[in-house]
Amino acid sequence: SGPVTVLDSKALERALTRICYEIVERNEGLDQLVIVGIRTRGAYLARRMATKLSSLSDVDVPVSELDITLYRDDLDPNEHRERPQNPVLSDNNVPTNLAGKTVVLVDDVLFTGRTVRAALDAVVDTGRPDCILLAVMVDRGHRELPIRADFVGKNIPTSLNEAVDVHVIEVDGEDAVTIRKV
Ligand code: 5GP
Ligand code: MG
Repeated sequence: SGPVTVLDSKALERALTRICYEIVERNEGLDQLVIVGIRTRGAYLARRMATKLSSLSDVDVPVSELDITLYRDDLDPNEHRERPQNPVLSDNNVPTNLAGKTVVLVDDVLFTGRTVRAALDAVVDTGRPDCILLAVMVDRGHRELPIRADFVGKNIPTSLNEAVDVHVIEVDGEDAVTIRKV
């Protein structure tokens, strides 16, 4: 049997909108808010959220991107790697200072939690945010660290022989979440 659609484009869009309203509810005034998307697909979702949040408020909510490849704790420790100097970059590649900000980290799928753990390192390296929240489109379970999301598009309890595919229109030509056996 082929892939099963869990969220179609309308449902994905609705989930993003709902998450944005939840973020507004959690933060009186969005002045200190910064949205930080984890590359690749989290960054596209983050941009869309920033646009929605800006239209829900009277401020332009800034959005940045994070590439956490070099922060993963499962890379070969014997191979020397320098951490990037400025891992959190704004749209025009300007390093983002997150001191005093409320940061909403955004990713497409939350699985073991290791990517988010690494992202927290990278964010904290840029200064000390007041608060860091996590938004994911899909929580597929199987956490290996004490990490949970504050905002979830869809909880999808998966088995380990299933893969979740998050398609975003910017990369994949359509919005959808599907599951398939691997
Ligand atoms: P974790 O670090 O929590 O194990 O995995 C989360 C990261 O890996 C996310 O950045 C996500 O993009 C990717 N990922 C992990 N599992 C899946 C999955 O089943 N489907 C997709 N699309 N991405 C996944
Ligand atoms: Mg990813």
